[in-house]
Amino acid sequence: MLRICSFFLFVGALAAEPADWIWSARYVITMDAQHRVIENGAVAIRGERIVAAGSKAEIDERFQPRQRLDRPEAILAPGLINTHTHAAMSLFRGLADDLRLQDWLQKFIFPAEARNVTPDFVRWGTRLACLEMLLGGTTTFTDMYYFEDVVAEAAKEAGIRGVLGETIIGFPAPDAKTPAASLKFTETYLQRFHNDPLIAPAVAPHALYTNSDETLRAARSLANKYHALLITHLSETKKENDDAMAQRRMSPTRVLDSLGVFAGRTLVAHAVWMDERDMAILKARGVGVAHCPSSNMKLASGVAPVTRMLALGIPVGLGPDGPAGSNNDFNMFEEMDLAAKLQKVTLLDPRALPAKTALEMATILGARALGMEKEIGSIEAGKRADLIAVRLDRPNAAPLYDPISQMVYALKAEDVRDVMVNGRPVVRDAKILTLDEAQILAKAAEYQAKVRASLK
Ligand SMILES: [Zn+2]
Repeated sequence: MLRICSFFLFVGALAAEPADWIWSARYVITMDAQHRVIENGAVAIRGERIVAAGSKAEIDERFQPRQRLDRPEAILAPGLINTHTHAAMSLFRGLADDLRLQDWLQKFIFPAEARNVTPDFVRWGTRLACLEMLLGGTTTFTDMYYFEDVVAEAAKEAGIRGVLGETIIGFPAPDAKTPAASLKFTETYLQRFHNDPLIAPAVAPHALYTNSDETLRAARSLANKYHALLITHLSETKKENDDAMAQRRMSPTRVLDSLGVFAGRTLVAHAVWMDERDMAILKARGVGVAHCPSSNMKLASGVAPVTRMLALGIPVGLGPDGPAGSNNDFNMFEEMDLAAKLQKVTLLDPRALPAKTALEMATILGARALGMEKEIGSIEAGKRADLIAVRLDRPNAAPLYDPISQMVYALKAEDVRDVMVNGRPVVRDAKILTLDEAQILAKAAEYQAKVRASLK
């Protein structure tokens, strides 16, 4: 009998499927179609992908991992997806706060950018941003800035996933003197990062009000030529809508639609001043939205009709925007919390945007807004292994009745303990594995002195 048992144990060990990692935790929040939350759960990872998620007992029996990480006092969740930001602007953090958007842009940001933004500035600013994002559980970020090829290099080095849009703007920019030069720069960039495992290069005309119709059309065809996402700011302020109405008798959404800008994969940031017709256009064209509650509140831009857009089936993700005045950090936990509360207080209805929806926006809905829901946004077999472990052993995590509610309303970016992107551990025990933190902070201080001197 003993011999038979050991024979079966032996066969069992041989039959176990290989895996590179097993990560286990007290809860696995999958964000899959059934919204499974697995108590005492585990995830098996092979190469760049998740091969299975289930109970710890089940995963341990089925897989033979090369390495494992067991966090009995943590939640495992899909990595958070930031759908709108300007990473390198981290070096302008807190430069000019509490101003109107146009004053902030014209008096501070555009002059500071003209005098300071070089490839070196973008490299260190992006490194600083990636450091903060990864430590806070963001595994994908969507960016719009200049020298986006350098942003891509810095993101790859950090080991974070990036949907990175080269900004095209109708006045001399740090990396191109004219929109035509900018379009050319963008095409070279798209070619260079085409089919990269971590980087999805994108085309990012800044906004309707900063580009000519001709440039917007050219940006669309360039994006379509490379099957790339087009990212732009849309209806962020009331002024933007009033100006479009005065000049063209159409809302910015209707102008962009009439120019054909939505004829291809598109993500718009903000979408605050939207009427029913505008929202119907986004829905009909399959446009994704990046909602930026911190930024909209800080700049007093208004409240995006998020509950309505979600009811219409428009995929709405979350973005911190910023971090140089429109919002001063890259904290996706804060964006989840604020997104939920902003809809509630605006609609005077605590049911308006529940925790579950806020977490969806930071994960699977964000992925849909980017058109990447087949690759990221949930813990499911076949998806990229982008995972976070969030600790539950601190006072703000006890007691725990509902893991999803805890994620959105109680846990903080500082509670993130481990992060994996594309199957590669990048944060372990709240320490970055891929970047030199001390060097980055020293460079940030150096740039602070330079930027300050440049504005005198
Ligand atoms: Zn923005």
